[in-house]
Amino acid sequence: MPTPFEIARTYNPKLNCFLRIFNEGTVPSQAGKLNGLTVGVKDVFALADQRLTCASKILENFKSQYTATAVQRLIDAGAVIVGKTNMDEFAMGSSNENSAFGSVRNPWDITRVPGGSSGGSAVAAAIGACRITLGTDTGGSIRQPAAFTGTIGFKPTYGRISRYGLTAFASSFDTVGTFGRSLEDTAIALEIMSGKDPHDMTSADAPVEEYSASIGKDIRGLTIGLPKEYFGEGIEEDVREAINEARTKLEKAGCKIVNVSLPHTKYCVAVYYILTTAEASSNLARFDGIRYGHRTKEQLNLLDAYKKTRSEGFGTEVKRRIMLGTYVLSAGYYDAYYKRAQQVRRLIRNDFAEAFKVCDAILTPTTPTTAFKIGEKVNDPLSMYLNDIFTVSANIAGTPAVSIPIGLDSKGLPIGAQLIADSFKESTLFPLSKAIHVDVLKDLRL
Ligand code: GLN
Repeated sequence: MPTPFEIARTYNPKLNCFLRIFNEGTVPSQAGKLNGLTVGVKDVFALADQRLTCASKILENFKSQYTATAVQRLIDAGAVIVGKTNMDEFAMGSSNENSAFGSVRNPWDITRVPGGSSGGSAVAAAIGACRITLGTDTGGSIRQPAAFTGTIGFKPTYGRISRYGLTAFASSFDTVGTFGRSLEDTAIALEIMSGKDPHDMTSADAPVEEYSASIGKDIRGLTIGLPKEYFGEGIEEDVREAINEARTKLEKAGCKIVNVSLPHTKYCVAVYYILTTAEASSNLARFDGIRYGHRTKEQLNLLDAYKKTRSEGFGTEVKRRIMLGTYVLSAGYYDAYYKRAQQVRRLIRNDFAEAFKVCDAILTPTTPTTAFKIGEKVNDPLSMYLNDIFTVSANIAGTPAVSIPIGLDSKGLPIGAQLIADSFKESTLFPLSKAIHVDVLKDLRL
């Protein structure tokens, strides 16, 4: 059996899922509960003395001074860090085609995307180069690539895991989470990372349940809501069928299925792309060529040096988002866009609160389609954004959500189901996930 490090080195030239693979021992490991569990870290997290690029040219040679809390907690518990994984630049994207260091390829079909933005982490977990990989989910960046690669992608409640040492994209949405092949690994990694961190004032003080103990819990009597807004047009037939099968499994396991409504769903993608671009335009202002990373070689005055550095350093999608965000925050448009979107965010949160009065979890497809072709959507940002249609709502509302592999489509590509629970009810999601999980990865041929 090749070691995870060997798998990483063997398949990376073909799949480009790692930006850097460490030598064994580069990150000193500790003795602990995780007992050598191999972990890959999305290159958006700080790891002391290692490069942190966010897959952007602007941070190409930037080295972290310290380690992100989530990563440190895993190291302290005995994890072995395999490497830093590829991603869409600054976590903006749904296909991993926005990395300054090349696209990641889907191991199920290398002409297809692995999803994004945490595509490298999804692939590293899918091929067994790591037992757990860290991702971030701002609008679906864990769940969508998990669905496209046949992995389990878990996004906890906003605030559950510290964001200290995570490069900010949209701070009121950004959530740290995991990819894995098993629910057991997922549960234990999340348990270790979760909980209050004095370095992140938005981290929650709520008690962390023992997720690993919840996997085997009885789900009889739980109520599952099917939101009618998530079963409209545009869903591939194979995806629809697989979700129906998952629903039947839950029913057979003793769950009650009810219809629910999330009436403001149609505004989710718009609200998401207004608020996250606004937050991004402010967060990314710090990359100015003076304080971090790349600086233009040209001798210029301060303002021109900023402009030139940022023009050289950021890719097209990041520039598009900074411009969109600056626009929606500008004096003349703030009320019409930013303020309005904040108000609609509240309505969307209220929709979820209403739904969770009558159900314990919500079941939806993770994505309307399985993995699409590399190049298929790059020139059509809107169609790329619409890929996030089922995932952004959980970030708008802050609720935990998971994507579980439930089968393969007629092309042999993985299909994911999404389960969403009310905030801080992660432990409800584990036994429900177990009831519908299909280990499609056993059929992955590399
Ligand atoms: N695909 C979404 C976007 O492009 C989600 C990104 C994310 O969750 N980081 O913004």
